[in-house]
Amino acid sequence: MVATLLEGQQLASKIKEGLKKDIDALKSKGFVPHLAAVQVGENAASRVYINQQKKSCEEIGIEYELKELPASTTENEMLDFIDKLNQDDAVTGVILMMPLPKNIDARRVQVRISPDKDVEGMHPANMGKLVYGEMGLAPCTARAAVELLKSSGVELKGKEVVVVGHSEIVGKPIMLMLLASQMESPTPVVCHIATKDLCFHTKRADVILVAVGKHGLIKADMVKDGVIVIDIGINRVPVTDQSGKGVLNEKGKPKMKTTGDVDFEAIKEKASFITPVPGGVGPVTTTMLLYNTVESAKLMADKSAK
Ligand code: NAD
Repeated sequence: MVATLLEGQQLASKIKEGLKKDIDALKSKGFVPHLAAVQVGENAASRVYINQQKKSCEEIGIEYELKELPASTTENEMLDFIDKLNQDDAVTGVILMMPLPKNIDARRVQVRISPDKDVEGMHPANMGKLVYGEMGLAPCTARAAVELLKSSGVELKGKEVVVVGHSEIVGKPIMLMLLASQMESPTPVVCHIATKDLCFHTKRADVILVAVGKHGLIKADMVKDGVIVIDIGINRVPVTDQSGKGVLNEKGKPKMKTTGDVDFEAIKEKASFITPVPGGVGPVTTTMLLYNTVESAKLMADKSAK
């Protein structure tokens, strides 16, 4: 068996088409989705991310605004700033650019964002909704992984699903999303760093979603034929030649590539569906941020209609 690829770009484009229609409808009622990204100090890596966010927002008609605060900002100043954004009716969604300076407790700031503007889906109120089976504003990567899984079209009811990784932003919300329906859910098992025999679980899984950050963690002999694999991990590893020797780039530095957590080449020969890395969960995650921003604008429109 050679697996069908679950390409993220394809699903992302489909979701964006739907979002454009929603944005037009919102704008006709006078509501413009507006994402405020808060950056404290300067960070080259998040600058790249900011430019990508701005581009993808503006492509579909979401306003994007970067709010830059000095590196000397205190936690209290930051909390006051978040309060102002919460009260600003022109801002429908707020995202924090990480990392924040060490003197600022990122969790404290994150939970200060109004749950209705929490486009990253990290507020306890939004996490809590998942327990009740309501998606609302849900964590972007977890939702992206579940949407890609659903895009396979395979019925999940009663299936054995193994989630590897139990972080707050990925593994735990995935587990809750899988259990969203009382009668139609699969049976999720969550494995993590303390799991004694990972292979015991993965070998009997109909579906594996892995979010760990360890290249080659899931090998072909750890999965059964026909498994569906959603690889969320992102790892940068050196490129090697056939003898296993590291390849150098034009600057004489080790050439690097991006991989997921599974042995893609070997597992795609056994799986029924698999996500590539890069090009799988990543593009859908970015789109989920747009999705949540549109949802946040809908929440504002609904509230003002009441
Ligand atoms: P994290 O470090 O918060 O959590 C890692 C999880 O892996 C933990 O639950 C830990 O218990 C588990 N783990 C560690 N070693 C393990 C092992 N040997 N066996 C089983 N479980 C083990 O990481 P995170 O923020 O959840 O991210 C996980 C991965 O997903 C990373 O590679 C990250 O880069 C990637 N990621 C991708 C996207 C995307 O858009 N594609 C977004 C967010 C994170």
